[in-house]
Amino acid sequence: MEIPRTLHVHLTDNEPEHDSPRHIVVSTDQNFIQIEAAGYNACNSADDNQPGNGYMAIAAIEVWEGELRLIVWSDINQEDPTHIISLEGARITARKCEYCGGSCPSDHDYACDGFVGDIDGLYSEEA
Ligand SMILES: [Zn+2]
Repeated sequence: MEIPRTLHVHLTDNEPEHDSPRHIVVSTDQNFIQIEAAGYNACNSADDNQPGNGYMAIAAIEVWEGELRLIVWSDINQEDPTHIISLEGARITARKCEYCGGSCPSDHDYACDGFVGDIDGLYSEEA
């Protein structure tokens, strides 16, 4: 399945007393996904731009030098991102062993006896 270049979404508030829907545009390129929102803009982008042209990104997910990271521009008066968050700690391979705290779930060759035998059934029950 081909990934669409842009996806338009209208988000509504969970609380009905806040009637403030947001028009969000998610667009993709080879190494990133960027998020734009009508009424929000980046520092050096004209305010009459429309979301979807790629100039108004307020957040992005990108692969940068082998690292998956979330970039946020939460201040329209600041050119540089306000937040760059590495997502590498959320990798499945970063999950710690529930028995010893080591890397047993992703490194079975050096797994502890607790993990190998699942002595307390921590891995046998479905979540
Ligand atoms: Zn272990």
